[in-house]
Amino acid sequence: MASIKKITFAAAMKYISEIEKRKTFAIISHPDAGKTTLTEKFLLFGGAIQTAGAVKSNKIKKHATSDFMEIERQRGISVATSVMTFEYDGHLINLLDTPGHKDFAEDTFRTLTAVDSVVLVIDSVNGVEPQTRRLMEVIAMRKTPVIVFINKMDRDGKNRFDLLEEIENELKIQLHPMTVPINSGKDFKGVYDLHEKSLVLFTAGTKANDEDVVKISDLNDPILNAKIGERDADTLREDVELIDGVYGALNEADYLSGNTAPVFFGSAVNNFGVKEMLDTFIRIAPTPRPRHTTTRDILPSEDKFSGFIFKIHANLDPKHRDRIAFLRVCSGKFSRSTYYKHVRLEKDIRFNNPYSFLARQKDVIEEAFPGDVVGLFDTGNFKIGDTLTEGESFFFTGIPSFSPEIFKEVVNKDPLKTKQLEKGLNQLTDEGVAQLFTQFGGNKKIIGCVGELQFEVIQYRLLQEYGASVQMNSMPFYKACWITSDNPKKLEDFTKYKQANIAEDKDGHLVYLAQSEWFLNTEITNNPDIKFHFTSEIN
Ligand code: GDP
Repeated sequence: MASIKKITFAAAMKYISEIEKRKTFAIISHPDAGKTTLTEKFLLFGGAIQTAGAVKSNKIKKHATSDFMEIERQRGISVATSVMTFEYDGHLINLLDTPGHKDFAEDTFRTLTAVDSVVLVIDSVNGVEPQTRRLMEVIAMRKTPVIVFINKMDRDGKNRFDLLEEIENELKIQLHPMTVPINSGKDFKGVYDLHEKSLVLFTAGTKANDEDVVKISDLNDPILNAKIGERDADTLREDVELIDGVYGALNEADYLSGNTAPVFFGSAVNNFGVKEMLDTFIRIAPTPRPRHTTTRDILPSEDKFSGFIFKIHANLDPKHRDRIAFLRVCSGKFSRSTYYKHVRLEKDIRFNNPYSFLARQKDVIEEAFPGDVVGLFDTGNFKIGDTLTEGESFFFTGIPSFSPEIFKEVVNKDPLKTKQLEKGLNQLTDEGVAQLFTQFGGNKKIIGCVGELQFEVIQYRLLQEYGASVQMNSMPFYKACWITSDNPKKLEDFTKYKQANIAEDKDGHLVYLAQSEWFLNTEITNNPDIKFHFTSEIN
């Protein structure tokens, strides 16, 4: 007889406390703003690493062990999205790393579907940069709560108020300063923490320690003049008065709804201003949030497990071609060696060696809770957006697929390897590195990517991992968009008439490939019954 599992009150309470303990987030930035440096400081505070420089050196070590990653090393970018789990002040923090390079933006966008909040790093010298804008569009779409860290205050950056205005205007988000900087560059003296009402003094090259923090609840206290000089004290008093007048107290509900972003000023490389931000993050950042699905909203506290795959990573060891699927747990408890329903394939599968990323070690785990990311070995069962449940059928929604902007026809150079090529193309596009289209009529295989670099990675991997040698010929398209219509006849006529520009994606959805913006706009105007979509939700 099957045993019926009874959940005791104590077990249920343990379960709730596991959820409340967790915060899952990502640090995002334009390349070079300081994401890696800030990540490293967070890990140092969490005790997950001991030495500064560990995050970078670890990256290099990983590169040297694999040929595929050698491409990355040469280009100096990080392709992989990894997960770092650490504990801080009684909380369990899952930090999801995202590639900064723009050619891998899609990867980053999907990772953002797996987090509950983000920290956005902005370089005080460069202000808002192109990648910052693109990332924030995705963040705004999902209403993800944001904390902003304005980095490199030890350099002569833009005026503090100009920066705040620029960020608010460009990123269309209300800011809320949590600290006020005292000068920048050579004259940077530190910040005044508005929440703690304390002055945090900066000395270049040294780590902030307790003596550098002075409690000053009344800014007219003569100690302020003594610490930073009369002129800077006057400016600080004016700044604080202005900020208090304009912004008032932080409304946490506005932060949680993604409408207001608390802002910190600091210098990641000097570990300055980082702890203030981390402490606030711990205090206000959301615990695992409810998630939308195709049938209903799923609460993290539900007792049945559910989760989705947001990233698939090729195993970089060429001797083992299995892959690692990254699962975000959304509800219930995930347990090792337990059968779960793979909703798309309608079959039950179990995982005997799921692992977590605690302290950057890959450890086999017995269980995982909402907010956690679990690595699952995959032999080709998964694609991005797949949902696992304890039996219920639904898909988590809002996992985007973006319309590619560069297109190449894949030409098989070795007819004996047709099967391998097909398999390779299917598996690589399941990983979400590119999209595969089949042109109508002609049956040409076309790969669409957001960045040129991805083609090289695909060509290289097809050869290395599948033995398939291909040539990639550029196609004269500028954008792909999905087309739908309430009028099937109109859609049929359009696809017939425009055959050379029509393709199917892997799921059989119709796609229009436009040669230029002009063509696209003309077709949109001439075909009011047809809807042109620029992103397609995987589910
Ligand atoms: P990422 O590309 O966003 O991950 O940026 P990194 O963390 O690799 O930083 C890019 C460069 O900026 C590195 O040379 C860092 O040492 C430097 N950097 C990071 N934080 C600061 C800072 O607060 N001040 C200064 N002057 N340089 C910094």
